[in-house]
Amino acid sequence: MSAPGRPREPRGTAPGLDYAQVERTLRAMLGEIDAKGRATVAEETAAEDRFADVVDLAQAESNRSMALRLRDREFRMVRKIHQALKRLEDGTYGICEDCGEPIAPARLLARPVTTLCADCKAEREADEALRS
Ligand SMILES: [Zn+2]
Repeated sequence: MSAPGRPREPRGTAPGLDYAQVERTLRAMLGEIDAKGRATVAEETAAEDRFADVVDLAQAESNRSMALRLRDREFRMVRKIHQALKRLEDGTYGICEDCGEPIAPARLLARPVTTLCADCKAEREADEALRS
């Protein structure tokens, strides 16, 4: 669907955005999460070595559930990063999914996985606040 009277924008629609920089940032985020994931596994293995002690066992359990929660969040972030890279590839990156307007480059650089402009994000948050 294209708005009448507005020319079809070429690939890379958000004006003034450094797409190469966004891609580098996204890939750096992926690398960071990947490195953290490895560290978590190493910590868990170290914790299992102390399972003989009951106090440590309780501690290990709570560490473990915290690690799992963290990993769940990271997993969702990884998915968002991949989706953002896909949008970069197909030329829809930086376009607000609610209003179809370009998202401000500063916002994209601060939060490269965002799919909403600041206005629509604020609107959604207001909606969510009303519903809950
Ligand atoms: Zn919007």
